[in-house]
Amino acid sequence: MSIISLSIVVPVYNEAGSIPEFSVRITQVLEDMSTRFSLLKEALEVVCVNDGSTDESLSLLLAQNQADPRFKVVNLSRNFGHQAALSAGIDVAKGEFVVVIDADLQDPPETIPTLYETSLKGFDVVYAVRAKREGESWFKKVTAHLFYRLLRKLSPFPIPTNTGDFRLMSRRVVNVLKRMPERHRFIRGMVSFIGFPQIGVLYHRQPRSAGETSYTLVKMLRLAADAITSFSALPLRVTLYLGFGVAGLGFLYAFDILYEKLFKHTTLPGWSSLMVVVLTLGGAQLIFLGLIGEYLGRVHDESKQRPLYIIESETP
Ligand code: UDP
Ligand code: MG
Repeated sequence: MSIISLSIVVPVYNEAGSIPEFSVRITQVLEDMSTRFSLLKEALEVVCVNDGSTDESLSLLLAQNQADPRFKVVNLSRNFGHQAALSAGIDVAKGEFVVVIDADLQDPPETIPTLYETSLKGFDVVYAVRAKREGESWFKKVTAHLFYRLLRKLSPFPIPTNTGDFRLMSRRVVNVLKRMPERHRFIRGMVSFIGFPQIGVLYHRQPRSAGETSYTLVKMLRLAADAITSFSALPLRVTLYLGFGVAGLGFLYAFDILYEKLFKHTTLPGWSSLMVVVLTLGGAQLIFLGLIGEYLGRVHDESKQRPLYIIESETP
């Protein structure tokens, strides 16, 4: 079995329009890299994960594999989503370094040699930072910007902004990533969690070469929810704060109602007691919901079974 120096992982969902050009450009990049970094041609592989495409994608990928066996095809049984497809590809990849790239050519393959070159300076993760986003709606740009700012505030460790999944990872990072079995995956956040020397490299994000984005609003919201709940328990704590707030206000209001009842006699019989009970009980219920949320959050963290710590080196 030959040793693979570099694996390129490509999630593919209905990308028939992009695959021919993608294959040509990736092949050129492989060519350039083997001369520039003196890598064996057979030491490079492209792991294409077909994520339940309903168009010609799979047959195009299989044809590419016939033409150049360095292109491997992993075919999923149905559409599992971008992050799951990526995980499948990363698990299959054998390379000493693993690059993750989209098939739609928004991430130019010509950036890969730069990522690789940077990693040789001693970085385990080289992520591509979008200097400019072309051909994307202002809605996507604004929501992405707000989302990454929020995530930065909530996460206990920094997650780089303007960064997608386009990145290079070393084998030791990939091996840790493979040990993180969580179901709701936000891979760029998980890679930040892993640590080791990481660095960003600027690139220009291109417009899609063909087709439409398959990240619908619903999928984007789901990814955002996964990101926030995986990296912060703050939303759970919000309930607790809210409970204290409402209960506190109810308590204060009770004084006002008592005052009106005893000194101004402006209240209807039965109304005061009812209001006080409703307000304070409502608040108390929220407090307990929040408390349950706190416990649930911890169970949630446990069930993710993340490694407790990661050993970088051991001295005997
Ligand atoms: N993709 C996938 N499964 C999905 C959705 C997307 O494998 O359910 C792939 C898609 O083929 C592309 C990458 O993930 O290579 C990014 O998807 P897309 O371009 O639609 O997202 P955007 O770039 O708009 O965020
Ligand atoms: Mg895209």
